[in-house]
Amino acid sequence: MAKYNRILLKLSGESLMGEKQYGIDEVRLNEYAEQIKEISAMGIQIGIVIGGGNIFRGLSGAAKGFDRVKGDQMGMLATVINSLALSSALTAIGQPARIFTATPMYPIGEHYSNLKAIEAMNHGEIAILSGGTGNPFFTTDTASALRGVEIGADVMLKGTRVDGIYTADPEKDPSATKFDFITYDEIYARGLKVMDLTATTLCKENKLPIIVFDMDTVGNLKKVMSGENIGTVVGF
Ligand code: UDP
Repeated sequence: MAKYNRILLKLSGESLMGEKQYGIDEVRLNEYAEQIKEISAMGIQIGIVIGGGNIFRGLSGAAKGFDRVKGDQMGMLATVINSLALSSALTAIGQPARIFTATPMYPIGEHYSNLKAIEAMNHGEIAILSGGTGNPFFTTDTASALRGVEIGADVMLKGTRVDGIYTADPEKDPSATKFDFITYDEIYARGLKVMDLTATTLCKENKLPIIVFDMDTVGNLKKVMSGENIGTVVGF
């Protein structure tokens, strides 16, 4: 039995690289598509926001001398490329999906509106919400918090390569311990880099719970949807 009716799933662009150094790893992409199809079959409505870090990040561009706004626009276009790849992988395994874009880009996708996305989900289609927020100086974490609130998701899932939120970065500090639950305020107080503060605040102010979990282990998405506490829950 699914614990949620409608979710917003955030996938990081970096995870899409899989074992590669750049771009999209087809094995990882197909694993994601299978996991998404599996929970769609449980009757869960799914909106997805994908990052673009496997292709381009505005901040890294700015560090190399790119104009920040143009660099961010390149990053947002990178999320559209990833969204097209995911949509293609989902369709190939018989899972209907529809791409929406934050800025008009027809026929690559339909211009996003929350009502159209909800309509797509009501028809059993996965709504892939691409192009970030459409604005520079934001991140796809903020885009997923925003879209999650807009589509009335019960929870925002942040799929990462780490299995939850730790007291410190577990990839750097072996003594770091994992939280099963943490409040939004504790994230601020401890200065934890779970998501950027804009995204965390948007979730807090709109009472959208967050679950951070390891999306790169096949089967985990279904476990989270069945109510298994394998990641970290963020709430009040
Ligand atoms: N971006 C942006 N506005 C948004 C969302 C994303 O300008 O609303 C740009 C920004 O340059 C960012 C890039 O898109 O670096 C890719 O997104 P992000 O870094 O969040 O991807 P992830 O780290 O999840 O792969």
